[in-house]
Amino acid sequence: MEPKRVADENSSRNVFLELDDIYQELLLDHYHRPRHRKRLFDPDIQAEAHNVFCGDKVTVQLKLQDGKLSQVGFEGQGCSISQASASMMMVLLKNNSLGQAIALSKLFRDMMQGKDLTEEELKRLGELKVLSEIRRYPIRIKCALLPWTALEDGVKHKILEKH
Ligand code: ZN
Repeated sequence: MEPKRVADENSSRNVFLELDDIYQELLLDHYHRPRHRKRLFDPDIQAEAHNVFCGDKVTVQLKLQDGKLSQVGFEGQGCSISQASASMMMVLLKNNSLGQAIALSKLFRDMMQGKDLTEEELKRLGELKVLSEIRRYPIRIKCALLPWTALEDGVKHKILEKH
């Protein structure tokens, strides 16, 4: 079966992605109905990241309570991959500790950079595992990693602040 082509409307280069239906559906669902897309009041962690290639921008905000990410939010604009990745990331991170968030970030980065993960590791990434399909478009890997770059920056600053 011929995979459907998805026009990445918001990308300046109008890249077409040939993804299997299930991947496409999930990606576009998060793009059109982003989860946790909101501004938090008085966040403990805030960081943003840009990708000049697509004009993607993501701001991540996190609030901690009893060592857990009790509230998560993001704002942003750009291509469907960057925004869907941010939305999926928020769903995954909520109620995790900062340590767990960083471990998940490392796992996601490993996957996007071509490392083969175990079944168990893929399970931990939840819906984000569908983004492994993006590895076929090396130029878009940065888009998928963008919100994670913001997360890592934010956590790093938070840790530096403490010392
Ligand atoms: Zn992008």
